[in-house]
Amino acid sequence: MAKLIDGKEIAKDIRESVKQSVAEYREQGVEPRLAVVLVGDDPASVWYAKSKKKAAEKIDIAYDLYELAADTSEEDVLALVDKLNADKAIHGIMVELPLPDQIDSDKVMARVDALKDVDGVNPINRGNILQGSEGLFPATPESCIECVLSTGVELKGKKAVIVGRGETVGKPLVFMLLKHHPTITICHSRTADLAAEVKQADIVIAAVGKAGLITGDMIKPGAVVVDAGVNEVDGGGYVGDVDFESAEKVAGFISPVPGGVGSLTTVLLFRNLIKGMRMQAKA
Ligand code: NAP
Repeated sequence: MAKLIDGKEIAKDIRESVKQSVAEYREQGVEPRLAVVLVGDDPASVWYAKSKKKAAEKIDIAYDLYELAADTSEEDVLALVDKLNADKAIHGIMVELPLPDQIDSDKVMARVDALKDVDGVNPINRGNILQGSEGLFPATPESCIECVLSTGVELKGKKAVIVGRGETVGKPLVFMLLKHHPTITICHSRTADLAAEVKQADIVIAAVGKAGLITGDMIKPGAVVVDAGVNEVDGGGYVGDVDFESAEKVAGFISPVPGGVGSLTTVLLFRNLIKGMRMQAKA
């Protein structure tokens, strides 16, 4: 039976270290402050924005929520981002996605100051991932890596398979994971034999959005299995991309959904806020 990768437990340690940094800034008279821009009333975005507020309050990070109507123009959103970029009291900016159709998300993401880009969406930070340079990197792939590292399994020379090449998780994860020296295979909707690719992996990370895509018979005995997928189920709740019941019988380590990757993302966003503050001080 696989050992559980407990996202909440991993988050605790990171939260303590962020809390400590926040306290040190406050002692110096600096109030770490995150600005979140929410355009419209997409239920998931509203939920994420509000849950971040609660989490920020718990560790003493000041949190400003800018709620804009769904019909706000692109020009007005960009003007707000410019204002937040220029405001020295704001250390991190996050624009909740998706944005309404009249707004070009790429344009807005590119406008967020790269040193305040806690969500790691600005093309400069995407480039930093590719170059292996210092930068602010997206929380979900970072969370997948923290989940793998928490097992203590060395990645160097191991075979890792990432299932999914989406912009949010799979694609940035490839180069973030590569820093730890595994040999990586990337699978997607046109992979000819997904089961065969997954079967040879010491580390499997699923980031697709299809419940039950990866089953126990596809997994190499003892492998580390990290599930970033989030799929709603009829009657409420959600599951990952991995069929947990069959996979836990074969894997060495497995992250559950919920309680795995998703439990870490908010605290990693706050860790980015602190990292960004240090980078801003040097700039
Ligand atoms: P995305 O952009 O929709 O990408 C999905 C990827 O899955 C694509 O690369 C697609 O291949 C691939 N795919 C689709 N069907 C497949 C199949 N049958 N076999 C293999 N690959 C297949 O998704 P995303 O935004 O990266 O998100 C991925 C998952 O992570 C979603 O479930 C999302 O909800 C979840 N997520 C979780 C968190 C969290 O905090 N836990 C945060 C963000 C996202 P093609 O490229 O060929 O189309």
